[in-house]
Amino acid sequence: MPKLLSKAPAKKAASKSSSAKAIKRVFFFGNGKAEGMASAPTEKDRKLILGGKGAGLADMTSAGLPVPPGFTISVPCCEEYYRDGRKISDAVKKEVIENLAKVEKAMGKKLGDPNDPLLVSVRSGAARSMPGMMETILNLGLNDKSVEGLAARTGNPRFAYDAYRRFIQMYSTTAMGLSKEPMEHLLSGIKNKLGVKTDPEIPADSLKELCQQFKKFYSENMKGQEFPQNPLDQLWGAIGAVFGSWEADKAVTYRRVEKISDLTGTGVNVQTMVFGNKGDNSGTGVCFTRDPNSGANEFYGDYLINAQGEDVVAGIRTPLKLATLNDKMPKVYKQLMAVRKQLETHYKDMQDLEFTVEEEKLYMLQCRSGKRSPVAIFKIAVDLVKEKLLTKEQAIDRINPEDIERLFYPQLDAKTAAGATKLATGINAVPGAACGKVAFTAATAEAEAAKGEKVILVRKETSPEDVGGMHAAQGILTVTGGKTSHAAVVARGWGKCCIVGCEALDIASDNLSFKVGDKVVKAGDSITLDGNTGDVYVGSLPLKAPEQPEAFYTLMKWCDELRTLKVRTNADTPYDAVNAVKMGAEGIGLCRTEHMFFDTEERRLAIQEMIVAESVEKRKEALAKLLPFQRQDFVGIFKAMDGKPVTIRLIDPPLHEFTPKDDAGFQKLSQITGLSIEHIKHRCEQLHESNPMLGHRGCRLCITYPEILDMQVTAIIEGAIEVAKAGGKVFPEIMIPLTIDRKELEIQVIQTKALADKLIKAAGSKVKYMVGTMIEIPRAALLADKIAEVAEFFSFGTNDLTQMTLGLSRDDAGRFLPVYVASEKDGGKGIFKADPFQSLDQEGVGMLVKMGIQKGRSTRPGLKVGICGEHGGESASVKFCHAAGMNYVSCSPYRVPIARLAAAQAAIADKAAAKAKKK
Ligand code: PEP
Ligand code: MG
Repeated sequence: MPKLLSKAPAKKAASKSSSAKAIKRVFFFGNGKAEGMASAPTEKDRKLILGGKGAGLADMTSAGLPVPPGFTISVPCCEEYYRDGRKISDAVKKEVIENLAKVEKAMGKKLGDPNDPLLVSVRSGAARSMPGMMETILNLGLNDKSVEGLAARTGNPRFAYDAYRRFIQMYSTTAMGLSKEPMEHLLSGIKNKLGVKTDPEIPADSLKELCQQFKKFYSENMKGQEFPQNPLDQLWGAIGAVFGSWEADKAVTYRRVEKISDLTGTGVNVQTMVFGNKGDNSGTGVCFTRDPNSGANEFYGDYLINAQGEDVVAGIRTPLKLATLNDKMPKVYKQLMAVRKQLETHYKDMQDLEFTVEEEKLYMLQCRSGKRSPVAIFKIAVDLVKEKLLTKEQAIDRINPEDIERLFYPQLDAKTAAGATKLATGINAVPGAACGKVAFTAATAEAEAAKGEKVILVRKETSPEDVGGMHAAQGILTVTGGKTSHAAVVARGWGKCCIVGCEALDIASDNLSFKVGDKVVKAGDSITLDGNTGDVYVGSLPLKAPEQPEAFYTLMKWCDELRTLKVRTNADTPYDAVNAVKMGAEGIGLCRTEHMFFDTEERRLAIQEMIVAESVEKRKEALAKLLPFQRQDFVGIFKAMDGKPVTIRLIDPPLHEFTPKDDAGFQKLSQITGLSIEHIKHRCEQLHESNPMLGHRGCRLCITYPEILDMQVTAIIEGAIEVAKAGGKVFPEIMIPLTIDRKELEIQVIQTKALADKLIKAAGSKVKYMVGTMIEIPRAALLADKIAEVAEFFSFGTNDLTQMTLGLSRDDAGRFLPVYVASEKDGGKGIFKADPFQSLDQEGVGMLVKMGIQKGRSTRPGLKVGICGEHGGESASVKFCHAAGMNYVSCSPYRVPIARLAAAQAAIADKAAAKAKKK
């Protein structure tokens, strides 16, 4: 792209050297031709230079559609504007004037001409659409003289003064930042005086009077300055306002929320005005080439007769359904239908169009890829393949992971949320929405839910002991923690809305209320969580139920046909397993057995008894109580998975996480064990560790208490034998967690195999199993060749691997990681592109993963490798796993479709790269 101000605009544009002259900043469209089409041949290139709106206008012009002539000040000029201290450079001004002359020539009119003025609109347009976030000014070029000329020329003074009052209003508020309300007030005042309800009822004289009032208001609030009468001054003011709106709070916030970080500014489109407010044979509308809610192939939209564009968007008047335009102006409607077809065929996507009809003549003002509901995203993608506009690969590539997530979670209605009282904002750990009564303990949550109440569990942080209450709750809110904290990991597994790290919450020590500033929320009061944004609201707001359209299943099937990477799930219960299979899981990649100990009080007490036991015999007695529970759980899971591989991990977390925490708990355990309460308390204190994440956890537990391994392996193998005997297919993979050394693993592999083989032989069974390990400590990745000599498979536990490679606590890093992740523009330091606990740190942790796979396969060719950390359900990480040569990824049931999509997209990218290489 030689002459476009694109790749390195900053230095070139600032330079006064002759090469700066060669840079093209402003692009004309009109008379059937648009500049920039040859030098920016793809739609993406054009959007980067012209912005979305500018690219659409250029495309439509070149396609011969009726587009009023105009020009686009390119996006890089916005960067230049900010670099020059919010100034429009002379170079831009020069090109604007040249292009204005072209527009004037095309229209046979001049800006500001007192007899027959050219009027223009000045609109924003970044490469990605940010609807309503930036500014627009219409009817520019009107002044006290040209308004008279317009009135005379059109023979319609009402129209002329309506246009002028709109321009003064927009320019004052948008370009000069004056408050909107007083001007709206003046408008209402005129309507009240006349006794009319709507704007079109205001006659010309009154509109003229309103213009005077507006101008008076302007000069009173602009230190005596008169409203600008020179059209060029108006133009520079309007262009500056549009550039300035790129950094307005709402635009900055929108980009943060939408995670738009790769754009540098907005383009500005200056275009000949056409008028939908010239009477009943004129109008303006917004339409979608397909229904953006359902995705149905039906023309969809609204329009207003005798109105200008902003009237439709602002919702001042109730618009009419597009279909009725066929009755009112059949010729225009037919033409619009043809435009619809032409643009969909050109862009191979649903388009969002803006049009104006001026005295029965149609003009197209905008086309862009239309925003649509999650349901419509799938429906449209699948339909476009059926209509042969897209290939399956192209359709799959258009889907984003969030599109899938949004299909599954109940949603908060944006309109409802806008009118609600926001309490606080935390970290949006699991999307969706939930509302219910506040419960501060897991026990209350369970008790209330058992009574049929909807509950939100609010905790400082959650621990495995809370799982009952977490499961019973509609949503979870914690004061501390990050996106891979316990609460987030568990909630995600259930598709349950969860907000963590909501540090503004101050939970009272009696656990009966929390405070945010001076607002107090008591146990039993209702709140609503929006897991998409991390916002917490007062009261119970209505939620929308999710739907999965047929098209979703079709598209997922296409993904499965194309991908090579398998997708498993992290599931601890038969319920989760069944759910995950429905989502397309091809096995279980991680069953965290410790989660099974918290289901009932009986299990909790048995594990606590095991922990406080002070002799091997006592420990074995307690373990014997747990055995039947675990065996039954495994039977359930094996049945649910019906022959699919099931990776069961032996117990992992530090034992003190299982100990009782309150007097009632101590007392219960004392009754069961016959030990004194003091004795139990003392034992629990002994078990306390300063650094539990690096302490007595993982396979270190079974190294020191081998009887735990015996019980768990017995439960797994006996469960498998039972299911196999009943005719079921089973394939258990026993996984040793947190390995750091070959010998450490070997001891446990030998113990596991000896016991498993003995049980299988004794039962006369043919059950096959594997024994492998997690790679979640850097040392294990570094020594993977040695470890693979004894491990039959690897599963990368990237939650711990991230924690230990980066030296960041996965539970606490949420407190400062946002500063590392947020860009400098957003007040952060931009150290990481993404939270490494969510999206794999491919540079650092990824290096260990690649090394681990390569080393592991060097001593065990064909070693089966997967991932079971949270990254296994994150799109970019899944693509990395594909490239690294893993066999499968494993993730929470609700993220299985996301992983299937990402795996397919990775395979598609591979094929495309191979094809490009061949060429
Ligand atoms: C991991 O560390 O990535 C893992 C899956 O184990 P857990 O999250 O249970 O520590
Ligand atoms: Mg781990």
